[in-house]
Amino acid sequence: MKGKIAFMPAAHTLEFHEYEVPEVAPGWTLLEVMQSNVCGSEVHVWKGEFMAGRGMMPGHELAGRIARLGQGVSKDSAGTPIKVGDRIAPVYFRVCYRCKNCVTGNHAACLNPLPGNPHPDNPPHFTAGFSTHYFIRPEQIFYRVPDNVPDGVAASANCAMSQVFWALDRGGVGYDDVLVVQGAGGLGLHAMAIAKARGVRVIAIDGVDVRLAHARQFGADETIDIRQYPEARDRQRRVRELSGPAGPDAVLEVAGIPQAFMEALGMVRAGGLVLELGNIARSLTIEFAPSTMTMKSVQVIAMTGYPPHYLKKALDFLSRHIDRYPYHELCDAKFPLSRAAEALDKSERREVTRAAILPQLG
Ligand SMILES: [Zn+2]
Ligand SMILES: [Zn+2]
Repeated sequence: MKGKIAFMPAAHTLEFHEYEVPEVAPGWTLLEVMQSNVCGSEVHVWKGEFMAGRGMMPGHELAGRIARLGQGVSKDSAGTPIKVGDRIAPVYFRVCYRCKNCVTGNHAACLNPLPGNPHPDNPPHFTAGFSTHYFIRPEQIFYRVPDNVPDGVAASANCAMSQVFWALDRGGVGYDDVLVVQGAGGLGLHAMAIAKARGVRVIAIDGVDVRLAHARQFGADETIDIRQYPEARDRQRRVRELSGPAGPDAVLEVAGIPQAFMEALGMVRAGGLVLELGNIARSLTIEFAPSTMTMKSVQVIAMTGYPPHYLKKALDFLSRHIDRYPYHELCDAKFPLSRAAEALDKSERREVTRAAILPQLG
């Protein structure tokens, strides 16, 4: 049996590699990939803003079906029995569980993360999602997908949803708070739904019609259209009209541009909280006066990733809210693996909210 996997050696370049699918070693699990979403981080690499020069194996928001179980594998990481054919969502990274951050619950900042596979030539080749197959390593966390959660929705639980779940928990955003979400993409929409479930009042900012419509469907109480308020100070004024004159209690930055972070510091109330998740590209910089934070006593919590067990929390949340929000609309463009480059291009041009690769389509 042969399989195919994509590799991104440089910006705007995608190669496909074909290999024999290796035997499944004891403790490993082999998935047939059902869906792998295009995450914002992959779009940053595609544009050459992030990890340029090293290349990457794209695809980490994925869901698959168990093709083969290695010897000794009979349960998922929550202890649920599993069998061939079951649908699975794997956590795409591995942490040490021993360092100072892991033992205090901040696994996302693990000091000794276990290395991933830098190139598909290394066996067992299939270790990323833009691929026909995916190997789950023995110590990798994975969960059976609840029956009422479709593949596409389960795929977005990984990364996007788990990350904002963790961010809102870590920031303690809860009942009666006003939260501004900058950016109504995958992360932003998941954050809105979770925040609403906690009794948070949500104000969403974006500049694309379909994204603004999604924001309202995913629980935003108010939306601010950037086209209608093109200047940062106008948006800030509008936010204060909606939140009250002190400003919002918290701002979640998932727009991925430095200006949005500056704007978050400007609009949050004195003593408020800025959750910084979107800016991941070193090449994107901005001039910055630290006094913006000091003189308002602003708390900034910046983070990437999430504790691995948050994927289980995310899947359970989806299972409970699957009928309440239009999760199935989140992936608005589906592509066969062979057209993954087009999926990345369309994502870069923001012509789609969340593109998905479905290797079963070819
Ligand atoms: Zn991601
Ligand atoms: Zn660790």
